Amino acid sequence: MDAQSDLRSHEVTNQPPPRGPRDLWAEDLVLRAHAISTDSDALSTYGRALGAPETVEAAREAERIAPELRLFDAGGRRLDEVRFSSGYHQLMTLGLEAGYAAGPWTGGSHVTHAAQVYLHSQIEPGTCCPMTMTYAAVPALAASPDLAAVWEPKLTAGAYDPAIAPVAEKRAATLGMAMTEKQGGSDVRANTTRAEPDGGAYRVTGHKWFCSAPMSDGFLTLAQAPHGLTCFLVPRWLEGGRNAIHLMRLKDKLGNRANASAEIEYHGALAWPVGEEGRGVQTIIEMVHHTRLDTAMAPAGLMRAALDHLHHWTRHRTAFQRHLIDQPLMRSLIADLVLDWEGATALGLRVARAFDGQTPEDRAFARIGVALAKFLNNKLALRVIWEAMEGLGGMGYVEDTGLPMLYREAPLNGIWEGSGNVICLDILRTLAKDPLAAETLGAELAAATGANRHYDAALKDFEAQWPNLPEEAEARWYAERLALLLTASVLIRQAPEPIADGFCATRLAGSRGQIAGAISGVEAQVLIDRLGP
Ligand SMILES: Cc1cc2nc3c(=O)[nH]c(=O)nc-3n(C[C@H](O)[C@H](O)[C@H](O)COP(=O)(O)OP(=O)(O)OC[C@H]3O[C@@H](n4cnc5c(N)ncnc54)[C@H](O)[C@@H]3O)c2cc1C
Repeated sequence: MDAQSDLRSHEVTNQPPPRGPRDLWAEDLVLRAHAISTDSDALSTYGRALGAPETVEAAREAERIAPELRLFDAGGRRLDEVRFSSGYHQLMTLGLEAGYAAGPWTGGSHVTHAAQVYLHSQIEPGTCCPMTMTYAAVPALAASPDLAAVWEPKLTAGAYDPAIAPVAEKRAATLGMAMTEKQGGSDVRANTTRAEPDGGAYRVTGHKWFCSAPMSDGFLTLAQAPHGLTCFLVPRWLEGGRNAIHLMRLKDKLGNRANASAEIEYHGALAWPVGEEGRGVQTIIEMVHHTRLDTAMAPAGLMRAALDHLHHWTRHRTAFQRHLIDQPLMRSLIADLVLDWEGATALGLRVARAFDGQTPEDRAFARIGVALAKFLNNKLALRVIWEAMEGLGGMGYVEDTGLPMLYREAPLNGIWEGSGNVICLDILRTLAKDPLAAETLGAELAAATGANRHYDAALKDFEAQWPNLPEEAEARWYAERLALLLTASVLIRQAPEPIADGFCATRLAGSRGQIAGAISGVEAQVLIDRLGP
């Protein structure tokens, strides 16, 4: 075979070009439209750093080189450590130095934080988990000012320090959470881990069935103390060496491969109470409230990443003499998926704005809004990502394109921090017990009336169908309709008219079938243009 024919056999045609450096903030019209009052300079820097080829390469390495459990050293002494790839450490450094965990507690905003979650999830969602838990632990720690005085400056240092050392010797620290046990995760009151008083501290004994980011510097842990379920801070490292926290094994899980989730045991580990004994759920709920914001925002980021891949692919790939993006049916599909993504992004950021608010109304709206956004956004993410995958044809199934990782990750944020059913029941409970939450939600829905006939009719139907809260058995249906209405109300007030109209016609009225792309009557080009240049 001569050199000429060999070259021809390797000619590449009809394959999209490589992406090169990206600016995830500047390229994202939808994020910029809905991230109101955010720190756009900081997000611009972060968007460029995340989109840099070396960051994308670090993320690939973090996905390729799985965390390694190191239980013992060569001599058989316990180590109880997990070694992560250098890509993982690089992504942690990037996120924490950008203020992912510290921002809202050091003069930044929750909207900027939520936008960071959205951006980071697009490149490497595994490192979001430890950073999110660190961000969310800060308000829970406020229940014990002495502990907060030691830990908060390290959690909000805006730095990453992976050294294995007591917190006092570190310039920065991370925290995880340990609630779920074998016999139950949703029903944490069934926890069996015990805490016995020991001087001014406690000794914790028991297990935790899921404990993500096991190299965190400590874990907010629920355990049964003499006066009931209590929240404890269990540091991983003490002045004299390791605390008695044994890693048992790492979960062989779906989802990203960069982060580790462990099963752990406490063998009389030294622990400090956070908040009052017996009020563990009330204390840790502060953390859960904030992790829920991130679990509502991350699916929007995953959707954005999947649609961005689909957009790039279909603009450069031809079939049957036309670019895929010019094929009418592909246009309907992309337009439909854009509505899910823009709705999820707008809703998540609206809720984040309530986290920034200072009034009782803001706080009440944040409580109900975050549950609605977490529920709906995660249900939509899987569908959007899988349809985007199919839009790349066979290559959507291949790891090189990044779609399989997004697909594996898609269900996770729907499961942890309250799985779907639990969130729906929470929505009913909040509306029943918190009149201000119901009132602020009602005001938010009312504020969008008069602009879209489908919305007005759907809101009326909703109120007629459920003049009172539904029975538990109908909670999913109720939550879905309510979350869709809330999303529509945000879009009506914030998005260009064709977006809000398209959303209301297809999601609230009848212009849509059960599956993605089964729509009619939307302005497809306007919707596709939301994906950027
Ligand atoms: C990758 C990963 C990482 C995780 N990391 C952590 C971590 O770091 N720390 C931690 O503490 N936990 C962690 N978890 C655990 C997670 O929070 C729990 O799995 C979750 O809360 C559900 O608890 P469970 O698994 O015990 O399921 P169960 O509580 O048994 O629930 C099973 C199903 O029943 C539903 N259900 C429960 N109650 C009701 C009801 N009354 N009516 C109708 N349906 C109901 C739930 O919605 C769920 O779908 C992690 C999980 C995963 C997958």
